[in-house]
Amino acid sequence: MNAMIPKDHPRYESLMIREKLVNGFKAGIVCTEGLIAHGRGEAFDYLIGEKTIEPATMATKVAVAAMLAAKHPVISVNGNTAALVSDELVGLSEKIGAQLEVNLFHKTEERVDKIIHHLKAHGAKDVLGKRADAHIPGISHERAKVSKEGIYSADVVLVPLEDGDRCEALTDMGKKTIAIDLNPLSRTAQTASVTIVDNVVRAIPNMIKLVDEMRVLPESELEHMRTSYDNKAMLEEVIRRIKMI
Ligand code: ATP
Ligand code: MG
Repeated sequence: MNAMIPKDHPRYESLMIREKLVNGFKAGIVCTEGLIAHGRGEAFDYLIGEKTIEPATMATKVAVAAMLAAKHPVISVNGNTAALVSDELVGLSEKIGAQLEVNLFHKTEERVDKIIHHLKAHGAKDVLGKRADAHIPGISHERAKVSKEGIYSADVVLVPLEDGDRCEALTDMGKKTIAIDLNPLSRTAQTASVTIVDNVVRAIPNMIKLVDEMRVLPESELEHMRTSYDNKAMLEEVIRRIKMI
């Protein structure tokens, strides 16, 4: 990592995250638009205190309960998440038995290949996304393409940093969509079944920890978590907290 950022810098963590994205950009994993999207995320992270807030913890638990019950869970991976949390994405996919699928909004074959290679270098055995042989209904051309055996046929999809249109279309397909998005007002946040308003660098490790803790809970308890959860109310609570600062 960059020796230029002193460890005692008050913004050390935030600067290290930027550094990872810049390195990902130089390696051809992150696209230019991804860097801009991160800026929007950072602004919202500031507003929630750069920590996991209580409504996010609740949503994370519900998300894990949904993934534990899934028959065919898939984790969608884009450039930013590959650059920030590759090890953790691979770890979560193994723990939960979920497939990894590279799914890019600004798609080029070269970038898909690089991200697949990057995930494999971080321990992934199998990564989907190279062959995008199915279409998400209602989305136009390239952006609609997903893997038939992956996202297309999944019952639960984890979409960290997804585009609003695609998230809505996946939800409309009847899938349970779990978004990780720092902006509680984005269309992704508003159209996902479960929205974790947290930074992916905190949310994915939290999910990994929770899988072990929750796996041993009785199914009736997990079922109750899933059915009593209200995503709209959770988002309103996040917005209320932001307004209070
Ligand atoms: P939408 O497409 O959902 O209507 P948008 O156009 O604002 O919203 P995009 O540009 O498609 O969003 O994607 C960026 C989103 O990802 C932003 O909402 C931003 O808050 C979020 N984001 C960026 N970096 C992170 C991160 N590290 N962790 C969690 N969320 C992030
Ligand atoms: Mg968008």
